[in-house]
Amino acid sequence: MNPSETARETLKRLAQQRIPPTPDNYRTLYHEIAGTTATESFPEKTLRQLASGLPRSTPEQLRFARQIESAVGDKSWDGLKVTLTDLLNKAAAEPPNWSQLIRDLLTRFEARHADLTPARKREALDHVLASAGSPELLYGRLQALVKNWSQATVLEGAVPGEARPGEETATVPPAPTSGTAGAKPAARQADLAKGVAGELLDLLAQLLENTIGILLVDTPELAEEATRLAASARAAHGTEEVASFVAAMKRFSYRLNFVAEDQAELKAALLHLLRLIIDNINELVLDDQWLQGQIAVVLDLVSQPLNLRRLDDVERRMKDVIYKQSALKKSLLDARDQIKEMLATFVDRLADFAESTSDYHDKIEVCADKISKAKDIVDLSEVLQEVMRETRVIQLNAQRSRDELNLMRARVGEAEREVQRLQDELANASQMVRHDPLTGALNRKGMDDALETEVARAHRHNSQLCLALLDIDNFKKLNDSLGHAAGDAALVHLAKVVQDAIRPEDTLARYGGEEFVVILPGTALEQAVNAMVRVQRELTRRFFLHNNDKILITFSCGVAELGDGEAAMAAIQRADGAMYLAKRAGKNRVLAA
Ligand code: GH3
Ligand code: MG
Ligand code: MG
Repeated sequence: MNPSETARETLKRLAQQRIPPTPDNYRTLYHEIAGTTATESFPEKTLRQLASGLPRSTPEQLRFARQIESAVGDKSWDGLKVTLTDLLNKAAAEPPNWSQLIRDLLTRFEARHADLTPARKREALDHVLASAGSPELLYGRLQALVKNWSQATVLEGAVPGEARPGEETATVPPAPTSGTAGAKPAARQADLAKGVAGELLDLLAQLLENTIGILLVDTPELAEEATRLAASARAAHGTEEVASFVAAMKRFSYRLNFVAEDQAELKAALLHLLRLIIDNINELVLDDQWLQGQIAVVLDLVSQPLNLRRLDDVERRMKDVIYKQSALKKSLLDARDQIKEMLATFVDRLADFAESTSDYHDKIEVCADKISKAKDIVDLSEVLQEVMRETRVIQLNAQRSRDELNLMRARVGEAEREVQRLQDELANASQMVRHDPLTGALNRKGMDDALETEVARAHRHNSQLCLALLDIDNFKKLNDSLGHAAGDAALVHLAKVVQDAIRPEDTLARYGGEEFVVILPGTALEQAVNAMVRVQRELTRRFFLHNNDKILITFSCGVAELGDGEAAMAAIQRADGAMYLAKRAGKNRVLAA
């Protein structure tokens, strides 16, 4: 049967069997009659219509619609099958695990990475958040970001319980994302290791040159070795150079160990010596309670671990002790000299008295002799008159001596009482009085009382309170060049200028020799710093006059604001630290703690 015969037969059967003459029925019957299999035609038009109606609002949907379109264009059932299978697989896959992702993201975000600053991480995160249009895309990009961060070098101890980056990259393949796409893990790792090694060598060089070099001033030969090693650390690029540097470093650290041990022993010996000296001073001044108190403080200070600040403190206190001691000792010595002088006069008088009485005895003996030899009443009356005359003289002498002795006894008693008073004053100097007699500022006791009141008030009113500690710059030099009296006058001048420059509600206290504390209630840190800068300016305007010479006095100052529940002394200590930094930074400045 030829095709036209087959077609005619098909139409005949459709009519005979009353089958609706649709193209499909025709095609089926035609192939039945011809004995061929139906090769179904590709429904391109229908499928194109279907594809054009697919949703395309997400990149994933767009990708899917395009794949369908492309398969339809190729008239490829296979292409359609692959695309649909892919889609069904995706639909059956697990839903995105957002909570795990956010947890991972936070962990990585908080981890400290060697080459990723928090700012860079935030920038990358912002970028991902802004660029991803759909939850799926956001999920994917965030996942990629987390993987990316997990490959960065984590700093030691940065993430507790975290796997080290090396272990991690072995199991998790890198996910290329925007920015850092394409880097292979091994290459990245190697680059990173190289970078870190270079940085380490640089750090070692700095350490050797700047720190270890300075510590080795007493062993110049080893210090030179440190400089040489620093140079070879910087020059070490190849494996061989690094290996020889490591070997040299080992030898060096071996020798360094001995030096460190020596220095520790030296320090211990010096401290021991210092303690011995202080103990000895203590033995020598058993009677001086004030000095003993100061020495106890110094002893306490040297019994703690030493640092530069503490040593400075010890030095300051020792100087203070010596200065105060010498000032009060002078008054004591004067009083004792006076007693000695009176005792000398007393002994002189006693000698005089003894002399005159022995003279009297001699004369009475002569008179007695004359009486025994007297022949008549006339001789006798002459002798008697002589006896009476001598007796009257001795009587007068005795009376005068008694009066003088009484007077002297009274004066010795007075001098003794003065010595006692001075000694008491020395003992109570820092405890009994609230004001410093020299400058009129509050003394330590006065300051403690004022602080107690002000701190309680600040807590009650929930207001700010600042404490400034100032220390005169180069005061020792002023003392040395102009004398202690001028130093005292300078202290008085400074206290006056400060007192005039601060507000009436602020309090000035003398904290130590040439150190003052200003209590500034109701003041924030910045205001307090400004206030102290104002005082400083005032001091440069109002010169200290010494013999008509204008002397410029400056001070260094640290200011601390009292923290919540902080003790006043702790804040003063912080101010002291800032003051110390101000000194180190070149003096004549105010720093906030
Ligand atoms: P710096 O500015 O670095 O602190 O140096 P400085 O010389 O001011 O400090 P140092 O602590 O070395 O010296 C303080 C001196 O102050 C030592 C002490 O003799 C002197 N001094 C302490 N109290 C008084 C005092 O009441 N009158 C006088 N005239 N001098 C005092
Ligand atoms: Mg000082
Ligand atoms: Mg000073």
